[in-house]
Amino acid sequence: MKYYSTNRQAREATLQEAVVRGLAPDRGLYMPERIAAIPRAFFNNIGEMTLQDIAYVVANTLFGDDIDASTLKKIVNETLNFDIPLRKVENNRYVLELFHGPTLAFKDVGARFMARLLGHFNSKVNPGQEVHVLVATSGDTGSAVANGFLGVEGVRVHVLYPKGKVSPIQECQFTTLGRNITALEVSGTFDDCQALVKGAFMDKELNERLKLTSANSINIARFLPQMFYYFYGVAQAAKMGLDPHKVVFAVPSGNFGNLTSALIGKRMGMPVKRFIAANNRNDIFYQYLRSGVYSPKASIPTIANAMDVGDPSNFARILDLYDGSRDRIAQDISGVTYSDDQIGETIRTVYDRTGYLLDPHGATGYRALEEELAPGEVGIALETAHPAKFKTTVEEIIGKEVAVPAKLAAFIGGTKHTVKLSPTLACFKKYLMGL
Ligand SMILES: *Cc1c(COP(=O)(O)O)cnc(C)c1O
Repeated sequence: MKYYSTNRQAREATLQEAVVRGLAPDRGLYMPERIAAIPRAFFNNIGEMTLQDIAYVVANTLFGDDIDASTLKKIVNETLNFDIPLRKVENNRYVLELFHGPTLAFKDVGARFMARLLGHFNSKVNPGQEVHVLVATSGDTGSAVANGFLGVEGVRVHVLYPKGKVSPIQECQFTTLGRNITALEVSGTFDDCQALVKGAFMDKELNERLKLTSANSINIARFLPQMFYYFYGVAQAAKMGLDPHKVVFAVPSGNFGNLTSALIGKRMGMPVKRFIAANNRNDIFYQYLRSGVYSPKASIPTIANAMDVGDPSNFARILDLYDGSRDRIAQDISGVTYSDDQIGETIRTVYDRTGYLLDPHGATGYRALEEELAPGEVGIALETAHPAKFKTTVEEIIGKEVAVPAKLAAFIGGTKHTVKLSPTLACFKKYLMGL
């Protein structure tokens, strides 16, 4: 299977090239040239299948041309060694909990899958040569990527984060791991970190010396596996006796990797009625749906900070998938945008009413179900992070202490190791050249 660039100025790439490069040479995003349909029969008994079995069928449809069956099965099974439960919260409103992975963030699945795929390709092509993954983080991505890649042979990860600007738990999640993970503590902002990573990718000398790649949701191997969530959500709905054709997924969205994977899943035949893209105050997509004009802006800080994105990178993929037609996009996706006050109110009222505690990201999706579901529809909000990851915020909202799950607490108290870096490309380059 070949992958083309959304800018159409680069030649088509193999899966391996697309995974190793991340971004296409013309700065476009890779898309699969063909979206194969999964046979209908698969959906007839999907309710009886396990998460791993469903994910393997989906992964095989996506990647089966390019990876042998036993390797792919191993990658799927290692990636998904935890559950993704669908819970009924009230009436026709359900929550799909994506946060049972090792860092309690939904990015775990994409990061783990990508790590294993990259490790596989690299060992085939460059035995002995390491690939270096550079990732700038304001918190969540760094922890998911660092843990996803931990111990994967032939791949080294360098996490750049702004000193003093990530939460203590998040910092522990990528500074205490050691092995093939190095944390770089940058005396600057998140934007500085991102500029350093960009600068390194553009630097000719560095790229001649080291094999560099990125691990954000522009990478095909990180964003596509997120569609497993939706297939498994549909399967659990079917098992509960619900009609998958009435399912509406509400997706808390930032860079739109998660939602885009679902749109491709729908093209593959996944039964689902429609989607709601839930935004915080960063409402670029919502405004696009209303006006047909895409106008990126600087991001605004909110309490759902993993969604503070002013120029969603996967928008180019959505446009490509719908041939640039706003009307066709709007047939599948509607949009909502909520303020911090509305997010807080949703966390509080849902907790008071039902005892279910949402995190600020999931709350945007849940509120969308409260406001937007039509009679007869079944709403599934994706819960993208455990509320304890945003402990202080959530405690202020509900006025009660939030217990930290053992898995998260286990990160606290390790020994922090970082390399200190001033925010100049010269310093970062010196570090990389010395590897
Ligand atoms: C990354 C993230 C999102 C946004 O996901 P996208 O795929 O970028 O739209 C939402 N919630 C949480 C908790 C996240 O970490």
